Amino acid sequence: TYAGYDLVVVGSGFFGLTVAERAATELDKRVLVLERRSHIGGNAYSEVEPETGIEIHRYGAHLFHTSNERVWEYVNRFTKFTGYQHRVFARVGDQVYAFPMNLALINQFFGRSHTPDEARALIAEQAGEIDAKDVKNLEEKAISLIGRPLYEAFIKGYTAKQWQTDPTQLDPSIITRLPVRYTFDNRYFNDKYEGLPVDGYTAWLEKMADHPNIEVRLDVDYFEVRDQIPAGTPTVYTGPLDRYFDFSEGELGWRTLDFEQEVVETGDFQGAPVINYNDAEVPYTRVLEFRHFHPERDYRTDKTVIVREYSRFAESGDEPYYPINSQDNRAKLQRYRDLARKETANGNVLFGGRLGTYKYLDMHMAIGSALTMFDNRLRPYFTDGKALSGTESED
Ligand code: FAD
Ligand code: UDP
Repeated sequence: TYAGYDLVVVGSGFFGLTVAERAATELDKRVLVLERRSHIGGNAYSEVEPETGIEIHRYGAHLFHTSNERVWEYVNRFTKFTGYQHRVFARVGDQVYAFPMNLALINQFFGRSHTPDEARALIAEQAGEIDAKDVKNLEEKAISLIGRPLYEAFIKGYTAKQWQTDPTQLDPSIITRLPVRYTFDNRYFNDKYEGLPVDGYTAWLEKMADHPNIEVRLDVDYFEVRDQIPAGTPTVYTGPLDRYFDFSEGELGWRTLDFEQEVVETGDFQGAPVINYNDAEVPYTRVLEFRHFHPERDYRTDKTVIVREYSRFAESGDEPYYPINSQDNRAKLQRYRDLARKETANGNVLFGGRLGTYKYLDMHMAIGSALTMFDNRLRPYFTDGKALSGTESED
């Protein structure tokens, strides 16, 4: 039966589990979590590869990082974190460079040493062909940041593979998160806190769901059981926004990834967790080697598991991974947001998470945004009888 719950949460990713955990723990509400897949955790789910015993992330490498104090305090209630610091290498031609752009990469690429001032001057000169103020697309943005030679080696081919869209048609915001540093620091993230869950992602996610007020049902698609849920039951929906409205405004475009997993008969395939393959001719974008995410673990040393990652447009039936920030999609999204607002007011359904808002959210952002939804919508609804639609405007 689907009756007798105070709150229904559709989807057991970080967004859904955070909402469920808060409502169960803070408000003593009975929460039903419905999950279409046969496991909890959404895309952060991890599992042990049986042949090697190595923890793999089934839906792509997940690195936790945040500067949000509240999120950091919250996540530490469910897991400890290792001291892992993410570093990525980039293969161009027959060289491997320490990524992102930093002094080591600049020196190796241009074949001589530069002081920070010399490197700055060099890049400023190469980037000078485009005025940062006039930047209209990803290509111009990249050239204005790093100049054309580095753009062509490190960005152009990789971006073409990742997006299959001409870089002059892509939004500049896609690469603003890639830092350029005039030091030898090659940490990938700038955030204050970083690490991987000591016992893996799935242990963390299970701990969040482990509460007597929370019932998780796997292999249940919300749309198949919706008529059995009493009308008006407060619901937090974290599935795809367009699916909820039967695609009435058209399908929102997504990119998906194909993961080609292989067990290799060596203790170490590439010496690093992630190597990007930046040349357009190599069909995959990057190779992950999961053992390197946990150097503290005693993994067997005669085998290793690697994953080659390929990117393409999602078709129906594919996992939606990255929203596509194009004009067409933005226009549809606007119409779906209007529908969602009405549905919140009339049907008591809130929309959240990566799929429910059609926004690329890192884990810490999904958790932070779920905590905010709990504070601003769910708590006032349950404790003061306020409408779920609230009063403040959506972003
Ligand atoms: P999801 O995790 O997608 O969960 C949604 C859940 O809803 C899914 O389990 C789905 O099965 C379920 N669902 C959907 N429809 C229905 C339905 N009709 N009925 C029942 N259940 C339904 N973040 C980082 O911080 N660091 C990283 O390194 C990182 N790497 C990433 C790499 C990739 C390839 C991808 C795609 C994402 C990455 N992320 C990373 C982002 C991270 O995965 C998200 O922040 C997180 O998954 C968001 O959680 P969510 O709950 O919003 O969505
Ligand atoms: N990018 C690139 N070369 C790289 C890595 C990234 O050109 O070696 C660009 C590419 O357009 C990509 C964007 O920067 O989509 C963001 O990269 P990031 O690694 O943050 O993306 P994710 O890990 O989410 O795929």
